[in-house]
Amino acid sequence: MGSLTIFRFRGIPVRLHFTLLFLFGWLALNAFNEGRAAQREAILFGGVLGSVLLHEFGHALTARRYGIRIAAITMYPIGGVAQMVDRPTPLQELWITVMGPAVNVVLAPICWLLGWRDLAFINVGLLIFNLIPAFPMDGGRILRAVLAMNGSEVRATRIAAMVGRVVAVLMAAYGVYAQEWFLLLVAYMVFNGAAAERSSTEARHYSAGFTARDAMIREFRTLAHGSTLADAARLLIETTQTDFPVVLGDQVLGLLGRDALIAAMAGEEGGHTYVSAVMNRTPVVIPATLPLEDALALLQTAGPCALVMDGEQLAGLLTPENVAEFFALRSAQSR
Ligand SMILES: [Zn+2]
Repeated sequence: MGSLTIFRFRGIPVRLHFTLLFLFGWLALNAFNEGRAAQREAILFGGVLGSVLLHEFGHALTARRYGIRIAAITMYPIGGVAQMVDRPTPLQELWITVMGPAVNVVLAPICWLLGWRDLAFINVGLLIFNLIPAFPMDGGRILRAVLAMNGSEVRATRIAAMVGRVVAVLMAAYGVYAQEWFLLLVAYMVFNGAAAERSSTEARHYSAGFTARDAMIREFRTLAHGSTLADAARLLIETTQTDFPVVLGDQVLGLLGRDALIAAMAGEEGGHTYVSAVMNRTPVVIPATLPLEDALALLQTAGPCALVMDGEQLAGLLTPENVAEFFALRSAQSR
């Protein structure tokens, strides 16, 4: 999303995020207008980008060797991401991760010998920066992989994510102290990256072997096609439910959510409006037999609630809250 494929190498598309395209345009314009110093800056920026790209290819081509598919390498102003389609084992993840910084280890002396001293230092900087033991940095992945080789992946991720958060807080504190605002941005990314990595690992682990049916809400209220917003508002208060399927006999016509209901209540007709005029007519639909992990991916596009269908029949509702409860129970049982 928001990125442009500029070329492919060994079948791996390399994409530039649009913010990076702007940065490029700005540097090029500067180089054109302001002479030598700006030109040097633009060339150095190109060198940094090249180094980061080769680093990502270090990850991507190693992953390839293990038969793990790479969706794309995307370059952002603050770094690159090689997006893996398949999950590596902990040992594979260790090697895939190590081979990125290893590229910088090779590049630094080469740049030095070629007389590109600035770029040599930058590669050393990239190496150190990437080895910070915090997600989404390589150091965090290495830590997780090593821990996971001696225990459960969920526990390993939990510990690595905790270390990542501590590092992020220290980084932010230092950023404020030294007035290095760039560090604050990185700290923010690391903090979020740690949380995201933790929740995606837990979701994968706890949903393995289950389908949407296992985690869905089975007891819920529906609204008949002819109901009004006043009827819906009454249900909203009387139950703990916030999203109501709108049905005509056995057939599901749509889904009325809390926000849409409240917004429509403020309208001219208020409570007299029919729910069918306000409901979402294209709610996200999840087959009951879909593996839970895939159902979660669909639920993320749905917002607060998705319909779980057994063929043409409405079987249940899936909400992020219910899935969180399902995972909490699974976590408690596996202790
Ligand atoms: Zn890396």
